[in-house]
Amino acid sequence: VGAWGDISNNAVEAGDIIMKLLITGMAGFIGYSLARRLSGQGHHIVGVDNLNDYYDVSLKEARLAQLAGCDDISFVKLDLASRDDMASLFERYRFDRVVHLAAQAGVRYSLDNPHAYVDANLVGHLNVLEGCRHHGVDHLVYASSSSVYGMNSRTPFSTHDSVDHPVSLYAATKKANELMSHTYSHLYGLPTTGLRFFTVYGPWGRPDMALFKFTKAILEGKPIEIYNHGDMSRDFTYIDDIVEGIVRLLEVIPQPDDAWDPAVGTPDSSRAPYAIYNIGHGSPVGLMDFVRAIEVAVGRPAECQYLPMQPGDVPRTYADTRALFDVTGFAPQVRVEEGIRRFVAWYRDYHGV
Ligand code: NAD
Repeated sequence: VGAWGDISNNAVEAGDIIMKLLITGMAGFIGYSLARRLSGQGHHIVGVDNLNDYYDVSLKEARLAQLAGCDDISFVKLDLASRDDMASLFERYRFDRVVHLAAQAGVRYSLDNPHAYVDANLVGHLNVLEGCRHHGVDHLVYASSSSVYGMNSRTPFSTHDSVDHPVSLYAATKKANELMSHTYSHLYGLPTTGLRFFTVYGPWGRPDMALFKFTKAILEGKPIEIYNHGDMSRDFTYIDDIVEGIVRLLEVIPQPDDAWDPAVGTPDSSRAPYAIYNIGHGSPVGLMDFVRAIEVAVGRPAECQYLPMQPGDVPRTYADTRALFDVTGFAPQVRVEEGIRRFVAWYRDYHGV
């Protein structure tokens, strides 16, 4: 997979284009799903990804292959940590908006591979901010994570509460992304919106996440690992709901307060064009209920191995979704049993099992 579908050579008249959009991490689960949703709506979409091997590269290539026929989407293979490549990308395409989803994801992997997180999530995020700042991007929407809430936040997790106790390096880099974005919103007036996603699942989902691992193991008759002896819960959020939230919030450009002035400075940080939202289902599901729903969808029982809590992990997540609803009129829709059923159907079809 190299670069394909160079939009700068497309015969579409400039007047026909609604917006020129960059999606980083387009070979990833959420980036791919977003590109597919936005294709065919009059936008020019440029996707970038470095196709790293954190998980099965053939799945990333298969996602891109699904998009290759869309003449409003092009793909450029590059690494966000490369300052020169990122500067050239922004110089060349002059994006109106950016949805920045590329990152080194995963909590457990960050224990053994800390540098991957600094390169992709901190240096990469800085390069995105710089590109947006220097090329007049009118809205940067980027992925944060429910992991920024750490262990001891009040439930449901609200963006109004301050969170500053991340318990993994992954979470720390996501919190740092919010802080860096705030700085660029404040100093340069760059409108930024951070999205705290809550455990995203669904067709084309990630092989390193529980639903994929559990489904695979159950189908292969192998045991599944249950952390914290099953005393965990997650606010599982179906991919279509995540994508709908992103699409709607892309249109909600944060506005600066009248009093906002970077030269004077203000103790009230909400005055810069900066916003943070949760995108979660808003109803946590216990791990054992989650396993039972997979057993039903697969039609086989799971063999469970009970293990202690893993370092860096949090026992529960629970999104307060009122701000998303107040601003967009949208509330995530898909119940977990239905979402799991759709995932398992996709899994069987994709793997031919
Ligand atoms: P993903 O791993 O499937 O997608 C991320 C993509 O970014 C991958 O294709 C990877 O190759 C690419 N990438 C990584 N480092 C890169 C670099 N330096 N340069 C270019 N490309 C690079 O993950 P996802 O589930 O689609 O997650 C998307 C975003 O949402 C990430 O920022 C992730 O941290 C965040 N997020 C995801 C979840 C979830 O449950 N899936 C939850 C919270 C936050």
